[in-house]
Amino acid sequence: MRSTSIRLFVETPLESGASRMLVGPQAHYLANVMRLGPGDGLRLFDGLAGEFEAVVEHVSRREVRLQVGAGLRAPEAEPDCWLCFALLKRQKTDLVVEKATELGIAVIQPVITARTQADHVNLARLRVIAVEAAEQCERLSVPEIRAPVTLGQLMQGWPQRRLYVADERRAAPLAGALHGPGALLVGPEGGFTDTELDGIGNAPLVTRVSLGRRILRAETAAIAGLALMLAAA
Ligand code: SAM
Repeated sequence: MRSTSIRLFVETPLESGASRMLVGPQAHYLANVMRLGPGDGLRLFDGLAGEFEAVVEHVSRREVRLQVGAGLRAPEAEPDCWLCFALLKRQKTDLVVEKATELGIAVIQPVITARTQADHVNLARLRVIAVEAAEQCERLSVPEIRAPVTLGQLMQGWPQRRLYVADERRAAPLAGALHGPGALLVGPEGGFTDTELDGIGNAPLVTRVSLGRRILRAETAAIAGLALMLAAA
């Protein structure tokens, strides 16, 4: 078997000894981009059962048949942390999803606020970005990416979990405020409105936190805030 460094996420549960047929973009990637052939090895993970070795059995123009081999890594739970972020322009939203996945986020919740620069997002495209980031960073799971909600909807149905609101006008540093897994909420490029911050601030389990004295771009705040929160989790 010729081993490769290829890791692929598959949507359905894996089982040693089973045969797996890949079609569509994954088959094209293996057959035509990476030019794998029978006997070549790769790794598969499904977000549930861990990571398995796999060997190419057969390659045709549209399909690649794999034989799933031994388990290589047991499932690993990521910290139960969420990122709620005001939608940004496409490239910045893509960056936030990719970096949040690499950092180990469990749930990504896009939020529409008074000053967001976008009010819709292509969830399928964000899912592809998250899967590719998980494959690259050797995660064993892919974060859940939820459909956008308004800030009011987010807070209305807020589950009982800590919410760290990134507020550049606050002094309480995030690092000192962390009490276990929670959610980080980051505003849009134009910031939260005073009304939004006052409304959020009264909700239970909410802490408005600072990420330092400088005014960070929203994507920087999301990535820096997540790094701190996930490191503490
Ligand atoms: N109100 C900002 C201004 O005066 O330019 C604009 C908002 S900032 C570009 C985008 C978002 O990043 C903010 O809503 C906040 O959530 C977060 N952020 C930026 N810098 C921060 C800091 N030093 N501490 C906490 N959050 C920060």
